[in-house]
Amino acid sequence: ASQQLSKSDTIKLRNKHIGQACQLFYRSDPLKIVRGKGQYMFDEEGTRYLDCINNVAHVGHCHPEVVRAGALQMATISTNNRFLHDELVQCARTLTSKMPAPLSVCFFVNSGSEANDLALRLARNYTKRKDVITLDHAYHGHLQAVMEISPYKFNQPGGEQKPDYVHVAPCPDIYGGQFTDKLYPNADLGALYAQPIADICQRQLAKGHGIAAFIAESLQSCGGQILPPAGYFQAAYDAVHSTGGLCIADEVQVGFGRVGSHYWAFETQHVVPDIVAVAKPMGNGHPVGAVVTTPEIAQAFCDTGVAYFNTYGGNPVSCAIANAVMRVIDEEGLQQNAQQLGDYLMSECSQLKQEFDSVGDVRGMGLFVGIELVVDRESRTPDTKSARWVVNRMKQMHKVLVSSDGPNDNVIKLKPPMCFSHENADEFLLAFRECLTSLMQDQLQAAATVATSSSLATNGATAAETLANKTKMFERQDRLIKSV
Ligand code: PMP
Repeated sequence: ASQQLSKSDTIKLRNKHIGQACQLFYRSDPLKIVRGKGQYMFDEEGTRYLDCINNVAHVGHCHPEVVRAGALQMATISTNNRFLHDELVQCARTLTSKMPAPLSVCFFVNSGSEANDLALRLARNYTKRKDVITLDHAYHGHLQAVMEISPYKFNQPGGEQKPDYVHVAPCPDIYGGQFTDKLYPNADLGALYAQPIADICQRQLAKGHGIAAFIAESLQSCGGQILPPAGYFQAAYDAVHSTGGLCIADEVQVGFGRVGSHYWAFETQHVVPDIVAVAKPMGNGHPVGAVVTTPEIAQAFCDTGVAYFNTYGGNPVSCAIANAVMRVIDEEGLQQNAQQLGDYLMSECSQLKQEFDSVGDVRGMGLFVGIELVVDRESRTPDTKSARWVVNRMKQMHKVLVSSDGPNDNVIKLKPPMCFSHENADEFLLAFRECLTSLMQDQLQAAATVATSSSLATNGATAAETLANKTKMFERQDRLIKSV
């Protein structure tokens, strides 16, 4: 085993030898994680953290079956897929058995970025077109071609210019997006959000070169845990298909049963993509991904005469691991667990929304939940500061790891390993309730200070009234916290 360093030495070495552009969670006081088990991670002092961030450790950190499958295969043979191997073909058979019928051909890769990159190549080759429609705030990976379709990155101040052949459609966010349920209470929001996609398709067709592909996460994680309105993907896919384009579903984050009701998130919208990109949960932490497509699209790629080869993609170790992951999901009923716990979390978080004005929206499906914090409910003004504060307090005080995301970084995200239990959900809820309560207390204290210093008696009276009402609420919450 490698030498154990003190945490401060680890930080020093990292600062010296690892590019500072690399993201680090909790940068001012980073975590040194040395061990994981199930839904827990442990730091160098043995402190246990409840992991609500790691959707990659899908069946639980270091799941013994997955570890055993990988170790056994590593001790047997690991070579490339230019040789026959049963783990490869069995992995492809299982993966495609989980997909709708036409999606029956796989290409194995090593990451989500590689999967989306290859998905674009397949689509561009099949359609002989180049243009791509992507959604605002989307992230599809760190390679050049996928950075070009990732507004999450290129819209940042130092981001690269968007190429002309990339078209950005609005993110179908009905709470904070362009078309909200508040502004358009009786409208078909799915149709409204799909219209810009139809418009881009028509516009590009009129220019003589239509769209090669429309790519989207089936539930947009990087946009802030977005659940598109009903009918959105059907209308968008129809518009793309009717103008000769292909539809790519990025299931890198949301696939493999996370949404509970279905194995793939695209199924919740009743669509069948032409190409699906999968990765992260597939290897439970080991780098493995795949592109799944139709025989026609795969054949057109073959017809180019340029062979596809990927040194590590589909190696027997990766495939043995992916096979073990898919087996464990089924054997341990993890998709059903995601559904039950997701329903529970949604109902409990909706209760928090009733109690705390700072909770603007609660949305989710299975073990994919987003809680949007706002400064003001009426205007839905994002509360970025409070979201950051909550993320840090959850870690420091409660040892619960959550992240924040969304264009305004005000959405608390929950995407824990799928072995998350009812007790874990309660642990999260208790901690989160405490954070919301302290947040409210701070805000009220600030309001009371303003009220007492105000020369206007009426303002003071109103603030005092609010304070009295809220104090009653705290007392109730304190009782609730103590009773759990
Ligand atoms: N697509 C989505 C939706 C992602 O969230 C990510 C990673 N965050 C990727 C693609 C890229 O995957 P990877 O980091 O494995 O290259």
